[in-house]
Amino acid sequence: VSNELQRSEKIKIISELAASVAHEVRNPLQVTRGFLQLMSKQDDDKNKKYVGIALEELDRASDIINDFLTFAKPEFDHIALINLSEEFNHIEGVLIPMANLEGGIIIMDIPSNLWIRGNSSKFKQAFINIMKNSIEALQGCGEVKVKAYLKGTEVVIHVQDNGIGMNQEELVRLGEPYFSNKTKGTGLGMMVTFRIIEAMEGTIEYSSEKEVGTEAVIRFPSGV
Ligand code: ADP
Ligand code: MG
Repeated sequence: VSNELQRSEKIKIISELAASVAHEVRNPLQVTRGFLQLMSKQDDDKNKKYVGIALEELDRASDIINDFLTFAKPEFDHIALINLSEEFNHIEGVLIPMANLEGGIIIMDIPSNLWIRGNSSKFKQAFINIMKNSIEALQGCGEVKVKAYLKGTEVVIHVQDNGIGMNQEELVRLGEPYFSNKTKGTGLGMMVTFRIIEAMEGTIEYSSEKEVGTEAVIRFPSGV
């Protein structure tokens, strides 16, 4: 009974979310259309700024759509043995420019012999979401430390930051759709991340302290 209940609850949540996608996506698309219209009428330096905003809004729109698609269908086409140090090398490459911009540093300690079973692009999506939040939490300076190791039959990954942290109330709401404390946040990142990790038979636990920092501990069954 409880399984059935969970399932119907999930379906209800998914359809509610799907219904609100149209609404969420409409705003950035309309803003984009507006700026592009202005651009076509003007012929000066401001165009650069308008194009920049238009692109940002388009990216945001496609992020939201992608997050919803992943949430609605986290099962993967391509399941393979994936190597953690390879994945995190790629992730670091994606995030270093952002960390530089925000004034933070990323410190990685991932041995090369760790493998899990899963989907490489979904894995990246999940950890980019987690680490982006950490970088954003630094608010100017600080560090994000990522380490991984084998413990028994599990691969354990820690993502730790010394950013603004969360109180108990915020921690409980993590993963709730639209929970965001950011002016430009979607509040969808953790919802999708939790679902990806669950679909890969992993677990994630957060601990945090206001003004001190946050740590996420993620566990997956070892792939080898
Ligand atoms: P978004 O990043 O779009 O706000 P998320 O689902 O990724 O949405 O995160 C939800 C909220 O959880 C964030 O707005 C932030 O307040 C909080 N949060 C998540 N990770 C951290 C972190 N490492 N440090 C502090 N707050 C965090
Ligand atoms: Mg986020």
